[in-house]
Amino acid sequence: RPTIGVLALQGDVGEHLAALEAGGARGVTVRRRSELGAVDGLVLPGGESTTMDKLLRAFDLAAPLRALIRQGLPVYGSCAGMILLADRVLDATDERTVDATDERTVDATDQRTLDATGQRTLEATDQRTVGGIDMTVRRNAFGRQVDSFEEDLAAPGLAAGDAPLRAVYIRAPWVEEAGPDVAVLARVGSGPAAGRIVAVRQDVLLATAFHPEIGGDVRVHAHFIDIVRGAA
Ligand code: GLN
Repeated sequence: RPTIGVLALQGDVGEHLAALEAGGARGVTVRRRSELGAVDGLVLPGGESTTMDKLLRAFDLAAPLRALIRQGLPVYGSCAGMILLADRVLDATDERTVDATDERTVDATDQRTLDATGQRTLEATDQRTVGGIDMTVRRNAFGRQVDSFEEDLAAPGLAAGDAPLRAVYIRAPWVEEAGPDVAVLARVGSGPAAGRIVAVRQDVLLATAFHPEIGGDVRVHAHFIDIVRGAA
């Protein structure tokens, strides 16, 4: 059984651990560098990507995670996790692109301060990502009015078998554009966002805009476990 970590700084960690176990992996939480170094694959859960981004930096996990991804660590990102895996991020209301690799942007906007108790706090005004997938992701793309919706998604490249996947979108992003090495695995099937890219894979990096860990269908996790095993 491969050991697959779930980044446990913030977000829906328990659901992913359960889905990984049900899919045949050993699921473990990851909060420290040493734990990050001990997994065969990693899940970046849904939650709030700006918060996760700040916590990744505060816990000194951002740089090691980037290095591991460059070395070929398989990573699956759902929703906020998809945002973290994007090389470029757009906000719903904002045309600025934040480039994951632009260190000048980082220095300009990331102001670290020490508060009275000596605890380090971050006052970053700009969001960074871990990056790895050559794509531009738009945060909260489905609009303020539509906080969440669900649909039955036909995604044969993502979930084995003929049954559609129940896709739950919660303040979800979508993929605005994907580079030539990115395989598109699913697009929204209905409604005003129909056709938008919501699942992608680049090498051993997998990302979905929706939350397959909700609802008991473990096929997306099984797909990721196959990637970790080198079988997909
Ligand atoms: N809207 C969140 C963000 O931008 C993602 C929501 C989610 O993960 N369910 O980070």
